[in-house]
Amino acid sequence: MLDADFFRRWMTATAASVDREAERLTALDSPIGDADHGSNLQRGFTAVRVSLEKEAPNTPGAILTLAGRRLISTVGGASGPLYGTLLRRTGKALGDASEVSEEQLAEALRAGVEGVMTLGGAAPGDKTMVDALVPAVDALGDGFAAARGAAEQGAEATTPLQARKGRASYLGERSIGHQDPGATSSALLIAALAEAAEG
Ligand code: ADP
Ligand code: MG
Ligand code: MG
Repeated sequence: MLDADFFRRWMTATAASVDREAERLTALDSPIGDADHGSNLQRGFTAVRVSLEKEAPNTPGAILTLAGRRLISTVGGASGPLYGTLLRRTGKALGDASEVSEEQLAEALRAGVEGVMTLGGAAPGDKTMVDALVPAVDALGDGFAAARGAAEQGAEATTPLQARKGRASYLGERSIGHQDPGATSSALLIAALAEAAEG
C-alpha cells in the first residue's frame, strides 16, 4: 500500500528533479515556445514543497490536492493549470483514505489525465504533456518502472510531431523536429513516482 509518506516523497522528488532539469526544460521551450517552462515549474514545485512542509497534509488525496492548488496559484503559464488539474483530480479520486493501492493510484491518475485532456483539449499525438502521461498511465499496471519507461518514450516520440495545442502550435510545421517541453517534464514527474516507489 502507498501511504502519505510515499506521496510526499513523490512531490519532493519531482521538485528536486525539476530543479536539476530546469535549464533543459527552458531550453526545450525556447525553439517552440517562450523559454519559460523550466522556471515556471521550478517556481510551482518549490511552492508545492514549501506548502507540504508547512501544512503537512496527512493523506495521499490531501497531499495531491494541495500540490495541485499550489501549481494553479503559482504557475502563470499553460502548464500550471494543466499540472494543477492533473494532481487535484488525481487527489480527489483518491478520496480521504490513509493508504491506497497501486491499482487505486493508477485509476486515480487516469482520472487526472482525463481532466488534463478535458481542460486543454489535447489528444495523444498533439505534441503535449498528454503524449507522455497517457502511455505512463497505460503502463502503470505493469509497475512504476514500466510507467517511467513509457513516459520517457512518449516524450521522445513528440519530436517528429507537429504541435496542435498550446503555444508551439502557432509555429505550424516549424514545430516539427523539437521535443515537447511539457511531455519532457511529465516524464520527470513519472520518473519521480518510480523514485518514490524505490523508497
Ligand atoms: P506556456 O506555453 O504558457 O509558456 P509552459 O511553457 O509552462 O506554458 O508549458 C508549455 C507546455 O504545456 C507545452 O510543452 C505542452 O506540453 C503543454 N501544453 C500547452 N498547451 C496544452 C494543452 N492545451 N493541452 C495539454 N498540454 C498543453
Ligand atoms: Mg512556455
Ligand atoms: Mg509562458
